[in-house]
Amino acid sequence: NRTTVMNAYNDLSSEGLIEGHVGRGTLVKRSSFRPEEDYFDQTTPSWLLGLAANESALIGPDARVVSELTSLKEREEIISLAQGTPPVDMLPAELIQSIIADSLDEARLSALGYCPVDGLLSLRRNIAARMRKRGVRVDVQNILILSGSTQGLGLLGRFLLSPGDEVVVEVPTYLGAIQMFRALGARIIGIPTDSEGMRVDLLEAILARRQPRFIYTLPTFQNPTGVLMSIERRRRLLQLAKRYQVPIVEDDAYGEIYFGEESPQPLKALDNYGNVLYLSTYSKMLAPGLRVAWLAAPEPVIERMGLYKQTFDLNTNAIGQWIIAELIRRDLLDEHLQRARQCYQRKLTLMLDAIETYWPAGGRVYPPAGGMHLWYRLPQDMRARHLLREAAHERVAFVSGELFHVDGGGHHYIRLSFASPEEKHITEGVRRIGVAMRRLMAR
Ligand code: PMP
Repeated sequence: NRTTVMNAYNDLSSEGLIEGHVGRGTLVKRSSFRPEEDYFDQTTPSWLLGLAANESALIGPDARVVSELTSLKEREEIISLAQGTPPVDMLPAELIQSIIADSLDEARLSALGYCPVDGLLSLRRNIAARMRKRGVRVDVQNILILSGSTQGLGLLGRFLLSPGDEVVVEVPTYLGAIQMFRALGARIIGIPTDSEGMRVDLLEAILARRQPRFIYTLPTFQNPTGVLMSIERRRRLLQLAKRYQVPIVEDDAYGEIYFGEESPQPLKALDNYGNVLYLSTYSKMLAPGLRVAWLAAPEPVIERMGLYKQTFDLNTNAIGQWIIAELIRRDLLDEHLQRARQCYQRKLTLMLDAIETYWPAGGRVYPPAGGMHLWYRLPQDMRARHLLREAAHERVAFVSGELFHVDGGGHHYIRLSFASPEEKHITEGVRRIGVAMRRLMAR
């Protein structure tokens, strides 16, 4: 209302805070310089108030959820089943200590100097060799080391997308990727998934009508559902990508954390055409604090991404790369992974048993064959957000399903991470969620 605005102006003017200038409008009044007052001035600098004109696009509403999840583990009274990360006792401190004690002295330059932009050659070689064992035809020139696969999503996203471009993702999909693509101004097209992974039959109609810049997929132990995409779907996806000339970004953060006999091959192993841009990370296999991940892609992509990456961080954490290269060279990584797989599988069984014991009937569990997450459909029409609120009173946390959905769905689903909590906390955490569920159902 105009009168309200005028009254507000009059109030500000009577307090001497603003002044009117004919032809220039009303401005904040310049105060005369008073050093002692300026020194103790506690008001916010004006540039900070409007830091980025497009702040809400750069930092989406879910960003705070993620940063809260990562700090939850620091609050001891809360049992967090929210974060997909190795547990404290699987972070390989002793291995890293022994490597540093034996060899850091001789490796000063490679571990503590700037390293080549594309990454430490020894690590790139080791990664290429390990990928060949998993059926992917790559060599050292196809590998670019990254500061976390999040950086890879950002670099590929910036390189392939302009604001307003479309990108295809699975529904549900990894929250961090949704945030990244949104921050880059992409329009996101969601393709539903089922027990065999992305509904590739629904993808074709999209590719025929629209021109997404790439398809983002998690074919192996998908986050959040844990699903392993079937071979038929993988073949069909590659055929479609080739026919419509769309690159695929494969995110394989969990591929080496399998509970069966054999390591499932990446989608990239079936890619004869060079259409798959493959990302993986040591965050789940070893330790997220190392911030070491990699991109495997055709050489022209690696070359361009390397030059582009240099602009942002010059090079990746060298000591982290050196530690991993040494772990692989000393044949210690596979041993570590073997222990981690056994540990996570045992924890998953514990979680499933606790759900069976403590939760009311009517929900549905989706037990994964690998990874760190368990996907769950809540009983009846219970809403994940309501349960989360009740669960907070019980001091237990998980992630509510809609955060992984770009189509407004997921309200009746939750994601529980079984890898990071201690075993006793898995049972207790599940029990507490059961208490919260029954309380909601009694309403
Ligand atoms: N991709 C997926 C599927 C993930 O779950 C995560 C970690 N939550 C990442 C990427 C990010 O990994 P990084 O630590 O390498 O950035």
